[in-house]
Formats: sequence, C-alpha cells, structure tokens
Amino acid sequence: MAAKKVLLRFSSSLISKPIVYRLIKDFDLTFNILKATIRPDEEGEMVLEISGNGENYKKGIAFLKESGVEVLDTEKKITKDEERCYQCSACTGVCPSGAISIDRKTMWVSFDPEKCIVCELCVGTCPSRAMQVRIK
Ligand code: SF4
Ligand code: SF4
Repeated sequence: MAAKKVLLRFSSSLISKPIVYRLIKDFDLTFNILKATIRPDEEGEMVLEISGNGENYKKGIAFLKESGVEVLDTEKKITKDEERCYQCSACTGVCPSGAISIDRKTMWVSFDPEKCIVCELCVGTCPSRAMQVRIK
C-alpha cells in the first residue's frame, strides 16, 4: 500500500494514552509524524504518514476510531472557487485552523490551503458552494 496521510484529532482525555503506538505493535504499520500539536488538557492534532499492508491499515484506522480518535483523510483537499464566493464571511466563523481569514478593512475573505486541516466545516457552511472538497 502507498503511504497514506491522515489527520488525527484527540480529545484531552485521550492525549496521554499510547494509542498511536498500537498501530506499530498490533497492526504492523509504520508511520512518520509530519505535524503534531498536542498540549496537556487540550484537544490535540497529529498528521501521520502511515505505511504498511492495506488490510492492516484499514484495521488500524478502525481501531483508532473505536478508541475515540477522530480520523480525517488528508488525501482530500479543499478549494475555494473565487467566482462563486460573494464574501459573506460565514466560513470565517467555523474554520478552526485559521486557513480562512478576513481583511477587516476590505472585508475580503482569503483561503490559505497550507493551513487547512480538511475538517470540511466550511463546505457545509458556505451558502454559494464556493468551498469544495476535492481528491488530491
Ligand atoms: S476545511 Fe476546515 S480547516 Fe479547511 S478551510 Fe474549511 S473550515 Fe478551515
Ligand atoms: S462562506 Fe462561501 S461565499 Fe461566504 S465568504 Fe466563505 S467562501 Fe465566500
């Protein structure tokens, strides 16, 4: 199986538990941690690049979900269609990563794909369907 990237989101109660380590021990998978934002007593996020057998990958991801970890597929990406966007700013209130921002002087809404964690919250919020999910 080609290496896959996933974004994991942990509640504060799961941060101290060795859940990710079980991917190696129980499912014979290997991973690189590409990004991690984990603070005690707060929600944590981690982007992993996981390699291994395809069936084991499915089982490992199922294990993470059963353990209460939110798993987001970063093989997807979000795009903003500037022609559809009419700068209503509804998406700025839901974006948790700072990928969408508004210039208070011009009220122009900008999207920075580098900061996007593909949570898809903006997609359901955008009234003009300017924010869209695509496969990379
Ligand atoms: S998908 Fe999530 S992180 Fe990305 S721009 Fe939309 S709300 Fe922000
Ligand atoms: S919610 Fe949609 S239309 Fe409104 S600013 Fe965001 S992208 Fe543009």
